[in-house]
Amino acid sequence: MPYNHIALIGLGLISASIALSIRRKDKNTKITGTSRSLETRKKADELGICEVRDNPVEAVKGADLIILCVPVGAMASVVQEFAATLKPGVTVTDVGSVKAAVIAKIIPILPTGIDFIPGHPLAGTENSGPESGFATLFDNRWCILTPLKGCSSEALKRLRFFWEGLGARVDEMDAEHHDLVLAVTSHVPHLIAYTMVGVADDLANITKSEVINYSAAGFRDFTRIAASDPTMWRDVFLNNKDASLEILGRFSEELTSLQRAVRRGDGELLFDYFTRTREVRRRILEAGQDTDAPNFGREKND
Ligand code: NAP
Repeated sequence: MPYNHIALIGLGLISASIALSIRRKDKNTKITGTSRSLETRKKADELGICEVRDNPVEAVKGADLIILCVPVGAMASVVQEFAATLKPGVTVTDVGSVKAAVIAKIIPILPTGIDFIPGHPLAGTENSGPESGFATLFDNRWCILTPLKGCSSEALKRLRFFWEGLGARVDEMDAEHHDLVLAVTSHVPHLIAYTMVGVADDLANITKSEVINYSAAGFRDFTRIAASDPTMWRDVFLNNKDASLEILGRFSEELTSLQRAVRRGDGELLFDYFTRTREVRRRILEAGQDTDAPNFGREKND
């Protein structure tokens, strides 16, 4: 590990996975962490995730890397709690699913001399809390860093090396581009899943339990995504408004054109469209970003 002491602010799925992933290979790096509630702090302590501290000021004391692992909307308020205690030379990063809004809120709070390098590991599940963390979460998954202009190249190199040590592949891009890419690949798909499950839930009132009992694979996959943490996803849409609306606009246009094809019985259009989308799936498998095992290789409760 390129750091002696890593502090985790927030003890949930992502931070617990970071701690467990570090411990897989490295027993010496000191890992401290804290969470807002006593309940989560106790749980993390029982699970042995890290040395649990009562508050962010205690958790960051002496750390050379601080990782913010709270919902995007809470990033600024947690930084506010410890910012004044930071010493020059410390690197602060985050794992938030949105980048531009987080940067805009954090930069004014951090004292000078601190290397702030925003990040986002593209790995996760629909589960929350320290008990859902696992050591292999980042293996072969991408972690996107969105370094700011004038960022220390040495600090950036260390952070890249850190994520590679957790098994991730690292890429860099600017924050706005990240937010647009993620709106396509993650944010809007989640909104669509939430919507579809909401529609089915409305129908469930008419058809009683049929939607639940006879749910086919397509709907079940939507429900898995739509079970994701409401706080995290509320914050994603509040903080990635423009890119989400841009992609939703395009989605609505495509949906309208498919709707027209269904109404007109335009089988050729539907077939060509579905052939094109099948190709996207093939390319994702080829890139090693999913598996074609039954149920996508997920365990029953994964
Ligand atoms: P999680 O398991 O739900 O854990 C959230 C943590 O944040 C908990 O420690 C929680 O504290 C704390 N927290 C929640 N609201 C807070 C607030 N208002 N103020 C201070 N602390 C607060 O979440 P996660 O899945 O690890 O996600 C953490 C971050 O990673 C988010 O920014 C998310 O966008 C990003 N991310 C998530 C995924 C994913 O798939 N889950 C993937 C990539 C990135 P208490 O439990 O003590 O209340």
